[in-house]
Amino acid sequence: MTSSPYNYDLIVIGAGSGGVRTARMAASYGARVAIVEERYLGGTCVNVGCVPKKLFVYAAEFSHSFRDAAGFGWSLADARFHWPTLRDNKTAEIERLNGVYGRLLDNAGVERISGRGIISYPHTVMVEGQTYSTANILLAVGGWPFVPDIPGREHAITSNEVFYLEQFPERVLIVGGGYIAVEFAGIFHGLGATTHLAYRGPLFLRGFDDDIREGLSRQLASQGVNVHFNSDVKRIDKLANGLLRVSFENGETLEVDTVMYATGRRPLTENLGLENTAVRLSEQGYIQVSEKFQTDEPSIYALGDVIGHIELTPVAIAEGMLLAANLFNGGDAAMDYKNIPSAVFSQPPIGTVGLTEAEAKAAGHSVKIYRTEFRPMKQTLAGGKDQILMKLVVEEGTDRVLGCHMLGEGAAEIIQGLAVALKAGATKADFDRTVGVHPTAAEEFVTMRSPAA
Ligand code: NDP
Repeated sequence: MTSSPYNYDLIVIGAGSGGVRTARMAASYGARVAIVEERYLGGTCVNVGCVPKKLFVYAAEFSHSFRDAAGFGWSLADARFHWPTLRDNKTAEIERLNGVYGRLLDNAGVERISGRGIISYPHTVMVEGQTYSTANILLAVGGWPFVPDIPGREHAITSNEVFYLEQFPERVLIVGGGYIAVEFAGIFHGLGATTHLAYRGPLFLRGFDDDIREGLSRQLASQGVNVHFNSDVKRIDKLANGLLRVSFENGETLEVDTVMYATGRRPLTENLGLENTAVRLSEQGYIQVSEKFQTDEPSIYALGDVIGHIELTPVAIAEGMLLAANLFNGGDAAMDYKNIPSAVFSQPPIGTVGLTEAEAKAAGHSVKIYRTEFRPMKQTLAGGKDQILMKLVVEEGTDRVLGCHMLGEGAAEIIQGLAVALKAGATKADFDRTVGVHPTAAEEFVTMRSPAA
């Protein structure tokens, strides 16, 4: 690599989860690597995504615990929530993590360059007027919240702003029906806001298993979250008293302090200098890559949210490890996107891996469905209405478990282990001969005996 005419073997643009991991791995294989970042180290996940969101979920879960505690003999003095404490403690933790990311890069020998990286030629990146030459460029620039073009959209916040709100809202409307919308519905409700969620379709979480979607919808409603389906926002007006009036296409209106849009994210490909390259975008703006993450410009690669395959942090990290090994360690592997587990940190949470019942049937599998719904043991004394729902999608004939889905406390933790089983090709018989851990909710996954009618 020392005989290269370039200053670097790899310049990574974007220091999020995918970019940082690729840079570190590439450097560990002996490559000369620089990483360019104009905003914050750690990208969306660390700064305005997974990490602060999970901290907020923990905060919101306390309200459920306080509610449950009475049946176990606890009496709690009037519990109060103080938003500035949560917000500022969270910010301090994020700043600590920014420092950790910086040190990880420094210790790996990756050069950090601050500023916006623009590709001026397939082998050069300009940052703040300085030109850097490189054998390879990686675009790991991620995505950005998308807000539809409706009148009054400027009054709405997104997941970029929600972590830094000056004041905690008394009434909030969340627009959207994906991961972020249902997660923040749980957060705001748990922290004490009157919470509305408006989704344009008949049932949120499109793409998740229908039983899970319906189960979450029922549980949110029974907790007191105001879920409005078939509700598309037409406009938002700011009133003289500072409130926001939201008008829906169906004629209804709602007045709230805060409107948060969670209507998807778009790839961040503008002003990167892509016009100076042969890099091609899809109709939705995602960078088009081969199965080895190479764009149509042979020296330029892309991965993570900007390619739009599966927009999850661990996926971007896995893509980055693979690319670094392929480029600098003699690897030649392609990414396996099958059986990638994920969790929605709604309250209760969802854990899912593999095919949904609908996906399995659409793919032509003949399936047996095992489903159980029960009241968690904790609720026997707590007296709450929480339910746990578990479902296995099993292929008839081969007996292979094609999908595992769970709604309920612990789902995010439980699904990780089941993902190993699915990855290893487990059959329903393998589940059946696994001894349960008692008393847990998880044991139900190995004790479901009769297929649902
Ligand atoms: P999602 O793609 O999950 O959901 C977007 C939602 O917005 C859908 O319900 C969609 O409806 C709706 N929508 C899209 N366009 C419009 C519009 N013009 N008007 C009204 N509604 C609209 O996006 P999120 O923003 O929730 O999250 C972005 C990504 O981040 C996720 O896909 C996920 O990959 C990742 N993420 C993962 C998390 C995790 O792992 N726990 C947590 C948070 C985010 P419809 O279904 O009808 O198209």
